[in-house]
Amino acid sequence: MAIWNLGSINADFVYAVPHIPGPGETLGTTGRKMFLGGKGANMSVAAARAAAHVHHIGAVGQDGLWAVERLLEYGVDTRNIAVLDTETAQAIIMVDPKGENAILLHPGANAEIPQTILQTAMAEAQTGDWLVIQNETNLQRTAASLGRKMGLRVAYAAAPFDADRVMAVLPYLDFLILNAVEADQLRQATGKLPADLGLADVIVTRGADGADWHGPQGHQHFPAIKVDPVDTTGAGDTFTGYVLAGLDRGMPMAQAIGQAMRAAALMVMRHGTADVIPDLSEVQAFQG
Ligand code: ADP
Repeated sequence: MAIWNLGSINADFVYAVPHIPGPGETLGTTGRKMFLGGKGANMSVAAARAAAHVHHIGAVGQDGLWAVERLLEYGVDTRNIAVLDTETAQAIIMVDPKGENAILLHPGANAEIPQTILQTAMAEAQTGDWLVIQNETNLQRTAASLGRKMGLRVAYAAAPFDADRVMAVLPYLDFLILNAVEADQLRQATGKLPADLGLADVIVTRGADGADWHGPQGHQHFPAIKVDPVDTTGAGDTFTGYVLAGLDRGMPMAQAIGQAMRAAALMVMRHGTADVIPDLSEVQAFQG
């Protein structure tokens, strides 16, 4: 089977700064690095590293061809990424010596993915494939309803959280994944707990406290693997990519979650995001 991921592709610029600048301030940086980022790209890389056949559906500008190339190197099918006459999404991330950060997110091409690209991709998809969406692009609702109509299994990672968007796609979902903060926001916005949403499967990830699966047989808690974290960015995206890759291969949910936990635990022990997501052999060898 295959995973079709309608998702963001960002150029992440990480600037080391002596402090987070205030209004009117001009501040010199002490370092700069550029990475492939965006929740969508991270999830595509994670699922591909987990040996799934992943098609990314998205958009970049001419300045983002390197990002497409990088996805390709990680084994992601990039034929459904449009190259638009606009700029690639950018995250400008300032990090001070204490590790505090401030982030500017410019959505660029992520917000202008052409519907024709989605339709071309969906015409190639097979019944039973997965369609994955998050909240950093346009077309989520269109994709979810089209995917459902075509017999795909539709998964939604509700981040960054937006209650209206969750409610708009809810009728089309098979699978919802959110972190503990997002689950709380959902409860505040709708009065509903994950188990009350009427979905086949909901996973709530809880950082160092592990994850909860609300499935057809009820609720099951999975404790996290005990590690010393150095950087938790990308843990959730890695977890999601690995869970879906496992399900796509026909694994029972509990086994897919176990594998995703090992991948996410490896992730929090290293700095960086897409470029350091572990591959399946590493995850299988990791005993935790
Ligand atoms: P997000 O990055 O979306 O906020 P979480 O922080 O909930 O997601 O992390 C996702 C998964 O990553 C968790 O369910 C857990 O398996 C793993 N994880 C995150 N932080 C840690 C940690 N400190 N130690 C071990 N595993 C972790």
